[in-house]
Amino acid sequence: MVTKERSCPVCGEGTITPTGEPGRMVEHHGVRLEIPEDVKIPECSHCGERFFDEATAKLVDTRLDNILEDRRHAVFVKALERVERLTTRGKLETLLDWSPGYISKMIARRKKVEHRTAVLFDLIAADPGRLSHVLEELEDDSIAASPTPKRPKLQMAK
Ligand SMILES: [Zn+2]
Repeated sequence: MVTKERSCPVCGEGTITPTGEPGRMVEHHGVRLEIPEDVKIPECSHCGERFFDEATAKLVDTRLDNILEDRRHAVFVKALERVERLTTRGKLETLLDWSPGYISKMIARRKKVEHRTAVLFDLIAADPGRLSHVLEELEDDSIAASPTPKRPKLQMAK
């Protein structure tokens, strides 16, 4: 067996071995997340310094991305349940300038729930009355604008 142990260049006392443990918190895209225990990172047995090689860094990134995606999806779906008591998916998609069916695609995970989408829906769900207010205002504007158009209508050629 070839041993992969090497001495630590930081403290010079410990040896570096792939280690998996709970409680390894890191900031990932602005969110504090725990690196899953089963992800082994070369770590010094003495000073605890971690040594990320490219493959490890990539693995950590992928796993944390997945965790974040799961969370965003969960936040979005939970918030959407509340928001949909007030309005329809179609209206939401129009309001947010999304293509028809976009919400369903996110639910089915055929489209990623972006961070800002999760945040937005969480905020809307916290104050759903505000959404009704915005929708009313937008609808009022379109009604108010229609009887007295500010610009002359284009003549349609027949
Ligand atoms: Zn060390």
